[in-house]
Amino acid sequence: MNIKRIKNLFNIYTEVIVDKTKPTWAQSPTPKRGYRRIATEEAFATQALIAESKRLIASGNAEPGFAKMGGFVFGNGLPPKVLDSKLLDLGDSRIHQMDADGIDYALLSLTSPGVQVFEASKATGIAMEANDMLMEAVRKYPLRFGGLAAIAPQAPNEAAKEIARAKKMGLKGIIINSHTHGEYLDLPKFTPILEAAQDLNMPIYLHPREPAASWVAPYLDYGLYFATWGFAAEAALHAMRLIMSGTLDRFPKLHIVLGHMGEGIPFWLARIDNRYKGQVVVGASSVLELLPSEYFRRNFVITTSGVMDHAPLRLAIDVLGIERIQFAADYPYENAGDGVRSLENSDLNEAERMSIFETNASKYWGINLDAISI
Ligand code: MN
Repeated sequence: MNIKRIKNLFNIYTEVIVDKTKPTWAQSPTPKRGYRRIATEEAFATQALIAESKRLIASGNAEPGFAKMGGFVFGNGLPPKVLDSKLLDLGDSRIHQMDADGIDYALLSLTSPGVQVFEASKATGIAMEANDMLMEAVRKYPLRFGGLAAIAPQAPNEAAKEIARAKKMGLKGIIINSHTHGEYLDLPKFTPILEAAQDLNMPIYLHPREPAASWVAPYLDYGLYFATWGFAAEAALHAMRLIMSGTLDRFPKLHIVLGHMGEGIPFWLARIDNRYKGQVVVGASSVLELLPSEYFRRNFVITTSGVMDHAPLRLAIDVLGIERIQFAADYPYENAGDGVRSLENSDLNEAERMSIFETNASKYWGINLDAISI
């Protein structure tokens, strides 16, 4: 640490403590702005979800990735308890934290892997209760909170009904934490979910979780199953299955959201197209109506959640166009204030920052903060 003198807007030199372990943008005060900041991947939990997760882990029957990750997130030590209290809070403390971080509106969703690790009927019940609690918070703070509905994909027909109920209540979309008991949404059994999502115009936020049991083994070492790498590998695999299976030929109007700057896919997009063409020639891929990148640019948008690095942001803008990028903080897993400062101190101009912080999310989710009456 050292002390640095900075000149502020009023021509007064101010002394700030400089932490050399943090990038320079993390040292800056939050600038004034002419837009609202909408954060789109913000997690909460319910007591029932935490209790059932702990029970499952204690039983020894949890999937291997969840047994490790859940043991950390829903454990009994001090840091998980602090995390639990932040996750459980859908009231004033969360609002105060949002104020401190500079977040105007948070789109909340049940934390990963949500109910997808439970047996079907239990999962459906916990998801419905979570959606009711979420809606209660949204009704109490309509200018600060919106919500994505949790569903239990392991009961596809009930999940489709819950999507319809959520739409009617005023939730804005659906959160699905990648695989469910090792199965992915391209399988025919999940058709009712994709039909409901498309017909009711409810975007699916395809959120990461630890890799499925069928391929998690090499990820269980060194913490790789977690958010350093395994989460992105799993969510990107799921997105690629939806593209390469032809699912998006069946559901051309499905809206899918990927966090974490697109889980790496924008980086690979040109090569994916190139190799897909090669695979078709040798018969290793079936022929799709569009190129993989065309589905990605048509059906997907991405959020910045947890990626506080300007180079991948620039790449995503170049590859996808700025209108397909939304801001997310990934609270409480990430420092939301750092997320805000990172984007505020990027080399984007005011109009570009406004697109990512406000306009794109506002249009996509139907969040018109001026039209909401309290
Ligand atoms: Mn997240």
